[in-house]
Amino acid sequence: MKVLDVLKDLIYPEKPVCLACGRKYDHSEIEGICDRCLSRFSFITEACPICGREVVPAVLIEGQHCPECSEERPPYNFARSVFTYSGYAREVLLEYKYGHRPDLAGPFSQMLFLYYDEYFKDQNIDYLIPVPMHGERKNYRGYNQAARLAQALSKKIKIEYKDVISRVKDSLPLYTLTKKARKMELEGAFQLEEDTDSAIFKDKNILIIDDIITTGTTSSEISHFILKEMEAANVYVLTTASVPVKIE
Ligand SMILES: [Zn+2]
Ligand SMILES: [Zn+2]
Repeated sequence: MKVLDVLKDLIYPEKPVCLACGRKYDHSEIEGICDRCLSRFSFITEACPICGREVVPAVLIEGQHCPECSEERPPYNFARSVFTYSGYAREVLLEYKYGHRPDLAGPFSQMLFLYYDEYFKDQNIDYLIPVPMHGERKNYRGYNQAARLAQALSKKIKIEYKDVISRVKDSLPLYTLTKKARKMELEGAFQLEEDTDSAIFKDKNILIIDDIITTGTTSSEISHFILKEMEAANVYVLTTASVPVKIE
């Protein structure tokens, strides 16, 4: 490297590149995604206190549950998502899910950390558990994006992550099915990995990590599995995104 280049680097250090838009940026709240991109995410601040999904149109009175949770309360204590799955944020998340972009786990896990700090810090979480992917899909995509997020978050909060549940049955895309059909589709879909000592989860507080809540059925079914088969005391859910609950 020429002396001049060295000097230039000292005076103008290389700016980081935004993983979402590819531009160089000066400053960002979330390392890896520039402020300009972040301003296009709709971060969830007002949501159903149980499922954590935004309600559209925003008609809920504070503390009121969304119609879906009022109809049937999910088995977990409560869930929170960082942003609404729409517009630009949806594009970036899809890039992470299907575009072979594991590097996006960095900024997404930072976002999860901020929401963890706000909502779950006082829940005495013992373990993080990622929502598993069916083996064939994992082979196709190369990694389980929920597991990557859980792993990165685990490092930040110093709470162990346990990738112990496997998905033994692949399902049809759940959003295409009715609520009843979705439940049936997931029946028997989860299993504990062989050689897992389920006793360590007994009476513990578990935080489930996933990338997205679409219909809420997967988080409900896996929570049910963790409560029933692993005898956990409490289950919570934290995801990067969720689809809003639409009120007709
Ligand atoms: Zn950007
Ligand atoms: Zn709800």
